[in-house]
Amino acid sequence: MPRKTVPALVIALLGLALSLCLAEQRGNLRGYITAKPDERTLKIMADVIYLEPSTKFDIQDGPPGKRLASHNLAVGMLIEANGMWVGKHQLLAKKITCDWDQFDREISESAYLEQEPVQAAKILGGVPFNLKADGEMLIPDENTTPTWQQTTVQPTAGKLPAEAKLAGSRLRYRGVRRPDGSIVAREVEFGPPPPEEAFQNPGGLRVVRGKDPQTGIDILEFREKEEVVAKMKLFPVKEVQEYVGQLGAKLSPGAEAAPLLRSLEFRFYVIEDAEVNAAALPDGAILVNTGLLGALENEAQLAFVLSHEISHVTQAHYWRFVHETRPQRVGLLVADLAALAVAIATKRGYIFSLANFFVTIGLPAVVNGYGRRLESQADRLALQSLVDHGYDPRQASRLSAILIERYASRSMSVIWSSHPSNVIRGSFLTVQIERQYPQDDFSQKTVDTEAFRAMRQAMGPVKSM
Ligand SMILES: [Zn+2]
Repeated sequence: MPRKTVPALVIALLGLALSLCLAEQRGNLRGYITAKPDERTLKIMADVIYLEPSTKFDIQDGPPGKRLASHNLAVGMLIEANGMWVGKHQLLAKKITCDWDQFDREISESAYLEQEPVQAAKILGGVPFNLKADGEMLIPDENTTPTWQQTTVQPTAGKLPAEAKLAGSRLRYRGVRRPDGSIVAREVEFGPPPPEEAFQNPGGLRVVRGKDPQTGIDILEFREKEEVVAKMKLFPVKEVQEYVGQLGAKLSPGAEAAPLLRSLEFRFYVIEDAEVNAAALPDGAILVNTGLLGALENEAQLAFVLSHEISHVTQAHYWRFVHETRPQRVGLLVADLAALAVAIATKRGYIFSLANFFVTIGLPAVVNGYGRRLESQADRLALQSLVDHGYDPRQASRLSAILIERYASRSMSVIWSSHPSNVIRGSFLTVQIERQYPQDDFSQKTVDTEAFRAMRQAMGPVKSM
């Protein structure tokens, strides 16, 4: 046997063993279909799902007798595929499951109007209006008549008073998406703004910048009344804190925002913590870990992270999470809040993990996410914010792709570093950008800046986990 063939044979055998190993790996994948190249192939971002004649289709919560087939599956649907991995990004599907409610294509959502709609005065009386809200463009059809519930402004004889302000109001809408990405809203209802308490931290917790009395290092203090109950280490490089603060301020609600939002004090803090994570407290304190900053490639990605966290605040997600997700979670959260005081009383000294801290003090949603509906809303509004500020929104799905690769073999619970949640998010973002802005060309929009590169330079090497 010539000597050269030995390594070749070994490599071939190793390759065979590896492919056998992969072939036997069962797997499942949950996400939105981002492409359907042909009747037997689906894509969820980088992953390709192959359908076979034997693949079973299963509808959850569908009417009896309703069957699902591959021709029913379309881009934008949320599915779960179970089968075998036959390559790094290739899944041979044994079964595809999807929820029946996706076939009822009506969109129904509730969001707070962050700005005064430009055509507010025309919203009544059948006059066409375009209402930018919830990261969507809402268009009425000829029969849409807005309804009003406990609002401070009430129309008289079909007309809104000239001085009427709608910014801050709750908006509920129901409608169907058109090919141009806008939503024809058949029902539009205005309601009251969130109460002031929606922007207060539970337990009266306050977050303030401070200095450690012993070492003099910069810290973030969590105070209950005047007592410091916990501290986190702020990243000690001034340029990094300043840059994140300035970018955050640029993306926060401006002069045109609802009064309630204008009065909020958004503060941005870079925390020394290797975990890829960020969090927002109801009062506008936004925390970004060095681990997340270090994992980002450019300013557009950071703008997405900050805008997502800002949207949790402006949309009062913590308050909605507590008040709207009845009955399962309320009991749990009330119990959590009761435990808050006890947990805080036992937490003295430095907190080494943002995630552990928020879980311990009873605010797990701040780092684990508020559930798909509110997380999707924060993502939609963050995409809108990227577009409004001249960034390329495709960097949002690119960020998910980076995190999917990073956490491919690990399952973490926190929202920015969980593998399943990044597949769902990344595919949602890909689909949403296509749906929401089908005619837009983002190739000339901002991706990176000199300021971001200078900040990364000032940061030096950082650990991300
Ligand atoms: Zn979130």
